[in-house]
Amino acid sequence: MYTDCVIIGAGPAGLKAGQLLHSLGHKVCILEKEEIPGGKLNIWYELFPHNESADGILQQMLADINYPIRTSIIIDSISRNSKGFLLRDQNGDEYRSRALLIATGFKPFDARQKEEYGYGIFENVITSVELEKMFKENKITNSKGLVPKRIALIHCVGSRDIKVGSEFCSANCCITGIKQAIELKKMIPDLNIYCLYMDLRLGGRFFEDCYKDSQVHHKIQFIRGRLSETNENADQTIVLRYEDTLAGRPAKLTADMVVLLVGMQPDHSILKLLPDIDERVGSDGFFGNGRIDQADQNSDNDLFFAGSCTGPKSIIQSTDEASEVAFRVNKYLKKRLHTSIQDQYDGVWIQHP
Ligand SMILES: Cc1cc2nc3c(=O)[nH]c(=O)nc-3n(C[C@H](O)[C@H](O)[C@H](O)COP(=O)(O)OP(=O)(O)OC[C@H]3O[C@@H](n4cnc5c(N)ncnc54)[C@H](O)[C@@H]3O)c2cc1C
Ligand code: SF4
Repeated sequence: MYTDCVIIGAGPAGLKAGQLLHSLGHKVCILEKEEIPGGKLNIWYELFPHNESADGILQQMLADINYPIRTSIIIDSISRNSKGFLLRDQNGDEYRSRALLIATGFKPFDARQKEEYGYGIFENVITSVELEKMFKENKITNSKGLVPKRIALIHCVGSRDIKVGSEFCSANCCITGIKQAIELKKMIPDLNIYCLYMDLRLGGRFFEDCYKDSQVHHKIQFIRGRLSETNENADQTIVLRYEDTLAGRPAKLTADMVVLLVGMQPDHSILKLLPDIDERVGSDGFFGNGRIDQADQNSDNDLFFAGSCTGPKSIIQSTDEASEVAFRVNKYLKKRLHTSIQDQYDGVWIQHP
């Protein structure tokens, strides 16, 4: 298949970029490794900050698509020459393109790395990703099938943590915790919810409103504390030992369920196929250099990145970046087209020695 631009990844960023490039008249194809497009929109239930249905947003995005999205594609190889890229998939199918846009997203932090938090050891310690699944199933129960009375949400799991090699802030988990706490409270009104945070980072638009709402209307309790360990009681409730950093003393709390707000990690699965992008990986592991550097935008570069593969982002930030990058791809493709027409035109003239 010949295209102007192949996009790898059909999450919100890939879909947004594809839709824009297609509307600008380019031949686009998206390659997606999962069976269905949508990325994390397939996993989340309601979205912060306005509680829109993730599925509803995905259906709106898919309604605009009238170019190929190939799903269940495992890319085996990517090579590059002066004409662009050649990609081969597991079936031997080939995709040629002038430009390549990587929108492979992020992977959630593997909470097993924080053994002291008990994930994978105690059944009632789950992650924020698993809680989304429970919301979708409309069923919040503990390991005994009972509705919990006390739930603790733990911030900064796998972020801002030198021990696991992720010192950056994932930017979205404070607001995810607040969104999930409110959803829990709506489902189980007499539930007691405790958020254990290092400090709250709510930089996005309307995030402070959600925080205020969580305290004023839903009585969520915020404790500034750093979790040190979890243990399980005989009845499978979880004991959390933490340092209350406001009071400056150790404290403990018992909960029926603990939710670990896992951070956003770079997904490097595509790196091994494109070794020469190594230099475009920042010290935090995400693609791109994250600078306000116009030089790169004006270059002849044919490889582009968009969405959460360039750093932790919300959906709106991912799609905004995808739009901006789509315009850069457009500019590059137009320049290429102009050059190749010029080359053909030049070919009919006799060259003076
Ligand atoms: C627990 C949690 C809850 C969140 N909730 C919200 C929320 O409520 N609101 C909000 O705005 N943001 C939320 N976010 C952030 C949101 O998920 C991201 O902003 C969004 O998913 C980024 O979109 P993306 O397209 O960049 O990446 P993704 O959604 O990760 O999509 C990437 C796509 O690329 C595909 N892919 C990866 N590698 C390959 C490959 N090698 N070949 C082919 N395909 C590949 C993947 O299968 C996937 O379909 C949340 C994040 C977390 C961790
Ligand atoms: S957004 Fe909040 S929970 Fe997530 S890493 Fe930053 S401070 Fe921690």
